[in-house]
Amino acid sequence: MPARTFMPLAMYHDCVAAESWSRNAMNPTGNSGSQMPAPVHGCSESRHAAGRAVVEVNKLRKSFRSGTSELVVLDQLSLRVLEGEIVAIVGPSGAGKSTLLHVLAALDTPTSGTVYCAGRDLGALADAELAEFRNRQVGFVWQRHHLLADFSAEENVAMPLLLRGISRAEAFGTARDWLNEVGLGARLHHRAGELSGGEQHRVAIARALAGRPSLLLADEPTGDLDAQNAEAIVSLLERLHHAHRLTTVLATHNPHLARRSHRVLKLDRGVLVPSAVAEGELG
Ligand code: ADP
Repeated sequence: MPARTFMPLAMYHDCVAAESWSRNAMNPTGNSGSQMPAPVHGCSESRHAAGRAVVEVNKLRKSFRSGTSELVVLDQLSLRVLEGEIVAIVGPSGAGKSTLLHVLAALDTPTSGTVYCAGRDLGALADAELAEFRNRQVGFVWQRHHLLADFSAEENVAMPLLLRGISRAEAFGTARDWLNEVGLGARLHHRAGELSGGEQHRVAIARALAGRPSLLLADEPTGDLDAQNAEAIVSLLERLHHAHRLTTVLATHNPHLARRSHRVLKLDRGVLVPSAVAEGELG
């Protein structure tokens, strides 16, 4: 992208603030934040998972103030997600799914309670450390993928790596690898705005994973796709999860996607409860 100015990079940084990339997936170096606490009792966990908690949320409360009233969205919510799990969060629109994902990504702060993510106590981090956490530990796939329409697929995936100071050669090489992996090897130089909806989702997934985050968060990743494209994205997420030993939390209305998760938790009046469709498991 040599002919373009770097102004769009700042825009990009704003709109995908939760995109993050890490080569240091699980073992925090201890130079920021507290270490993970002892396990929270009473939280069901998947038998598929390897055992280390990537997410540990305890007594989370999140409310929004509107004038003189307070809207309590999350209340005494606990959640523990182990390395290797796929956890689906379901619930009606307005239940608080996006709010929860935003708190996990350190895009929003709890009103009270504790959130440990990738070994960091998010409440103990200073602003610069939170920015570093967002940049390195969490990959975020949004329903509206926030690609830069005028930039190529390759540039969209490479850009966050460039922002991290990775060399052009390495960033673009990594971008090409990931675009190949999501089936877009023949679309590297297409502008994002010229890609189909399903292809744009694939680019967004490649962008979220290119920096090897500790945690993948996906907010309605099939939300605006037709059934065929939604199924393709479900299969892709499932394949990538296993191939790259990801830890994934996704919010979805898609029962098919939810059933293919290890656990399904329903957001109900501010807390997470195991869902009736929770028994689906990946092969
Ligand atoms: P879901 O993702 O389950 O549809 P959300 O997390 O987006 O739900 O929203 C949960 C509730 O919180 C909604 O009633 C929404 O209007 C409210 N809400 C979300 N963000 C804000 C905010 N920044 N300010 C005030 N209210 C908010």
